[in-house]
Amino acid sequence: MIGELDTTSTAADNRTPPRIMLVIPCYNEEPGLRTTADELHKILQQLIDVCQIDEHSCMLFVDDGSQDGTWNVIRTLHDEDSELFHGLKLAHNKGHQNALFAGLMHALHSQADAAISMDADLQDDPDAVADMVEAWREGAEIVYGVRDNRETDTAFKRSTAHMFYALMKGLGTETVPDHADYRLMSHTTLEALSQYHESNLFLRGIVPSLGFPTAKVYYKRGERVAGESKYPLRKMVAFAVQGITSFSTKPLGLITGTGVVSVVVGIAMLIYTLVSVCSGNAVAGWGSMMCSMWILGGLILVALGIVGEYIAKIYIEVKARPRYIIEETI
Ligand code: UDP
Ligand code: MG
Repeated sequence: MIGELDTTSTAADNRTPPRIMLVIPCYNEEPGLRTTADELHKILQQLIDVCQIDEHSCMLFVDDGSQDGTWNVIRTLHDEDSELFHGLKLAHNKGHQNALFAGLMHALHSQADAAISMDADLQDDPDAVADMVEAWREGAEIVYGVRDNRETDTAFKRSTAHMFYALMKGLGTETVPDHADYRLMSHTTLEALSQYHESNLFLRGIVPSLGFPTAKVYYKRGERVAGESKYPLRKMVAFAVQGITSFSTKPLGLITGTGVVSVVVGIAMLIYTLVSVCSGNAVAGWGSMMCSMWILGGLILVALGIVGEYIAKIYIEVKARPRYIIEETI
């Protein structure tokens, strides 16, 4: 089912038949990779027959420094059909986001008209690919695969996911709730993405910040075809922290805010102490200790926050993100 479509401009109109590249990052995915390749082959064939995409559309598997036989599987697939199966091997495990970025840049340089990124475990329902291509043909430059529900998640994962999206929104970062990295990106948007040179990648924040007409396609997230998740809780927390710190310097403002509150509390205590001294009810030592603790502690926090604000400016400059992205020139 195709969700909202933000504009009616036609992204894929003049590309008949368009060439699509499925980009699949893989880390220790040997057990299920063959099944995934076979399934995606079927999907591509349907797209070629029904949606009339270019018959040279293909799959790109990015081996993210796997320790198992993932690369051997990819090599075998390539030997069987070198046009259909392409491979990219990273020398080290650099994480899902970097592997995905490498694959997307490869798709850009190989002149694919669009790239569709998806996980190697078939959790991203491949049937949604046809809807993505259709939404792209109707004018969207980026099509997000969005989970239609989170019933298969544990209550813990569901609630932490909602908290994360709410937090990101509160910090002023645009993300697409219930969307992971299952998405179609047109050649134009891949070009825009190539202007981002930061090494702490959080594509779920960068891609929505690109702009361009977008659409959503809803899909049911399935179970892993084989193997186990490469995102244990520890990695998920690190990923969430990366998302927050890559896009917002507001947490630094919180330090300053806490410091100011602490100073105000300290001053209130000082007034209370003075009143107590005047009325003869003062407890010896309490006032001097509490006031100095709160006021000095607050001042230190304020100073830290100010230093942090300057570091934040340096951080933003170092990222050297593009100031703007031109969607079209006429
Ligand atoms: N992945 C990767 N590098 C990593 C971790 C994961 O390329 O360091 C790939 C993995 O092979 C899969 C995708 O990223 O194709 C998503 O990982 P996973 O399915 O384990 O995450 P989950 O679906 O459990 O959140
Ligand atoms: Mg998965």
